[in-house]
Amino acid sequence: MENNKPQDIRGVGMTSQRTRNRLVQRLRKQGIESEIILDVINSTPRHLFIDEALAHRAYEDNSLPIGFNQTISQPFVVARMTESLLAGAKLDRVLEIGTGSGYQTAILSQLVSKVYTVERIGGLLEKARATLRTIGARNVHFKHDDGNIGWADKGPFDGIIVTASPSHIPQELLDQLAVGGRLLIPVGAGNKQKLLLVKNTEAGIEQEVLENVTFVPLLSGKS
Ligand code: SAH
Repeated sequence: MENNKPQDIRGVGMTSQRTRNRLVQRLRKQGIESEIILDVINSTPRHLFIDEALAHRAYEDNSLPIGFNQTISQPFVVARMTESLLAGAKLDRVLEIGTGSGYQTAILSQLVSKVYTVERIGGLLEKARATLRTIGARNVHFKHDDGNIGWADKGPFDGIIVTASPSHIPQELLDQLAVGGRLLIPVGAGNKQKLLLVKNTEAGIEQEVLENVTFVPLLSGKS
């Protein structure tokens, strides 16, 4: 099977399968336990989500520039957020705010039934759409909009993941979270951000701090 894929998807040299295996070993050592998520990271060609000039660094555990002053998330953070979002369950509908390169979208699309992703920068959204088409992701729906308002007519969602940091949780996102649903969101300014896990339970909203993180800010409006 693997050999039938075009070379750019398979990767060569610094983007080869061996290089990807090393990244996955490292994530496992850092505490990522879900073998399903590690498998998906292992088989997803991250080098296609960044500029060719940086492709040789695609399987380092770092965030990297993707243009428009934005970054592709660090693989460890993608793994950690995905693990916390799924918590061992197969979710049906997931909303992602901050498509960026589409890498987190690609990981999610292989683990849930449908991904709804919102990005405020049109140029990034179109690039991500093209990359996700290249890798054959068919269960992703895209919207060019301000993600602060979520995507009301497609909700409620079993999971919501926000990959840019607001100063507080937008109420619209809480309103679009199904009962039993989980929201992962980095909240706070600059280097004082905390990754929050918010659960919508029968008894109301529960919130837990997972760890300190650094994301680009969640901005308003679209461009
Ligand atoms: N998960 C992405 C991370 C991209 S960085 C990846 O791995 O590539 C965060 C993204 O959030 C940026 O693309 C930024 O433009 C976007 N963003 C910031 N504020 C937003 C908003 N209000 N609505 C939608 N997207 C937003």
